Amino acid sequence: MSPNPLRSIPSVNELLENPVVKGLVDRISHNTVVNSVRTVLDEVRLELQASATEHTLPSVSELADRIARRVLETDERSLRPVINATGIVLHAGLGRTILAEDAAAAIAVAAGGYASVELDLVSGKHRRRNHAVEGLLKELTGAEAALVLNNNAGGTLAALAALAAGREVVVSRGHLIQIGCSYRLAETVAASGAVLREVGSVNRTTIGDYADAIGERTAALLLVHPSNCTLAGSSGGAAPAEVIDLARRRKLPLIHDIGAGALVDFSQFGLVEEPLVPRSVAAGADLVLFSGDKLVGGPQSGILVGRRDLVAKIEKHPLARALRINPLALAALVATLRLYREPEKALREIPLLALLGTSLENLQNRAARLAPQIEAAAVVKKTEVLDGTAYLAGDAVPSRRLTTATIAVEPEGLAADRLAGLLRVGKTPVVAAVREDRVMIDLRSVLPRQDIPLVEAFEAISAKPEESPQAI
Ligand SMILES: *Cc1c(COP(=O)(O)O)cnc(C)c1O
Repeated sequence: MSPNPLRSIPSVNELLENPVVKGLVDRISHNTVVNSVRTVLDEVRLELQASATEHTLPSVSELADRIARRVLETDERSLRPVINATGIVLHAGLGRTILAEDAAAAIAVAAGGYASVELDLVSGKHRRRNHAVEGLLKELTGAEAALVLNNNAGGTLAALAALAAGREVVVSRGHLIQIGCSYRLAETVAASGAVLREVGSVNRTTIGDYADAIGERTAALLLVHPSNCTLAGSSGGAAPAEVIDLARRRKLPLIHDIGAGALVDFSQFGLVEEPLVPRSVAAGADLVLFSGDKLVGGPQSGILVGRRDLVAKIEKHPLARALRINPLALAALVATLRLYREPEKALREIPLLALLGTSLENLQNRAARLAPQIEAAAVVKKTEVLDGTAYLAGDAVPSRRLTTATIAVEPEGLAADRLAGLLRVGKTPVVAAVREDRVMIDLRSVLPRQDIPLVEAFEAISAKPEESPQAI
């Protein structure tokens, strides 16, 4: 009979001496690694017991690899700062926007101590949480009143629940969009308790279609900016101004969900179809809904601006309380909005606007400088600088196309997918797309201060690919 493999299982201490495991202890934490070592050893013990005859004991280096994978998977559950080299400046998977320094500092201040979230320091009395931000939003959008909730999905849900529950909301079939993986307008209307009254067609809805649907049960008309969705061949439908006018004549509230919601004109970045909040307010929408963390470039939040009576009604609804904004996000939003008082300052200091405002020439120069440095890394065979196309939020919407410079990186001795995988799990993770066996470093979404860490990320992989724990 062969010796019982259970007896030969290495000890926790033995495994902690292995260089891969040791590296993890330095990088992550002793306790985390020890826990993973124990878990893996328990699993191995069970596997051996379950089929004692067939299973052989894995080698120490196989065990070390398994432990490393386990530790990195666990660690991956926390948020890690990354370099976004996808070119997608509004990247849902990477937190959408980067906050301006002022906004990040405002979070640190609000987080580090008590803050006057709902206390008026002059009178010593309670005040509305939105007090801090409402004045700024009125000033910047021209609206009568404003309310900020957790996000735009929440803003839409609360608005419809407060204004239209049990009654009908008229929406064009062309506006029943889905955003990202989980937001569907039709489902949000249903969840609010309002009844969706679909009109027109996916590619064409006329003003007559809206007018015909209005009846006793109608609570509101809803216009939705299609955002990440375009339909080639859609034409001749009602313009938003006509629908706004119809709502006014029929004395119904017009809710305009403009989605990304710009506070400066994005046509200066070549983005000609991004709706401006003040324009929608001026056009007569009774309520304008938009996200704080899309084109505003602030923290996750849902902003509602419009008629005072409507805003007051929404604010009283229990959903507004349930979806109220986090004080840290509120602090960051106030700091972000303050920058818009001087648009030049906003363009300079809000990272989203600075990234969009970077000239192609600037990106090309940086790419030309960085490419040879990246090429010097041992895992890189060749680089090539290309002019490319980036899309604002990733989806290939023609009106959201941006010019960009890309460094195409051809790997040496490993597949491009694997190089991209190693870049994602390095000390400073780099997220980049792979196309035709090359890793594409798109500089449109890379901040200049990340240029050096970007090069270092390639160098770190080449250092000792088989020894570094991230090479797993
Ligand atoms: C993004 C978007 C939403 C959802 O906003 P969140 O802030 O992500 O909740 C809703 N409607 C439109 C039109 C959008 O573009």
